[in-house]
Amino acid sequence: MSGQETPRPPATAEFGHVTPDGPAHHYPDTGVAKLSVGAYDNNVYVIARDGQGIIVDGAADPERILKEVAGLAVAGIVQTHNHFDHVQALADLVAALNVPVYAHRLDAPPVGFEPLDEGSVTIGSITLRVLHTPGHTPGSLCYLIDEFLFSGDTLFPGGPGNTDGDPSRFANVMASLDRLFVLPDATRVLPGHGLDTTIGRERPYVETWRTRGW
Ligand SMILES: [Zn+2]
Repeated sequence: MSGQETPRPPATAEFGHVTPDGPAHHYPDTGVAKLSVGAYDNNVYVIARDGQGIIVDGAADPERILKEVAGLAVAGIVQTHNHFDHVQALADLVAALNVPVYAHRLDAPPVGFEPLDEGSVTIGSITLRVLHTPGHTPGSLCYLIDEFLFSGDTLFPGGPGNTDGDPSRFANVMASLDRLFVLPDATRVLPGHGLDTTIGRERPYVETWRTRGW
């Protein structure tokens, strides 16, 4: 299959198309919402269950994020990794919400945080499975709840996140993807930027990515 392009998802609501400053996308009957913030079109997700909420990535535009969680008892913020475009709203969100931030020690955010590693975490009444998926960064984390995988910059439609041409980081991210691709086909991948995809949609192309080497 070498040379075969991974088909890009269309920019439709079905694939969670959102734009910076545009409305959030709400996944029907799941309590999960997606919004885009900031100059780097970062996706922020809100997981709401029984009136409680978790924010995935305090990326940018804290006012916008706070508007989205109004009425929810936010219990915490989970970080996929510590690249600067994923952390810019954290200080303001912590000041406004007074909630803990969770991240991997190898990706310490610029605010106080609770360390997370492979396993699971219960924040308020919401339990997430935590996968340590190094490669894009050493402390990249993915979070799984129900059929949703919050993949940060580890997995996008069309391949893994950027590893800057570093062969060992690329090997690490591909090893991380091998762990993600045991998830069921219907698992919806919600990345740190851009459109959603599913594990089943991307799995046929994993060996193509490994061969191309980025
Ligand atoms: Zn990143």
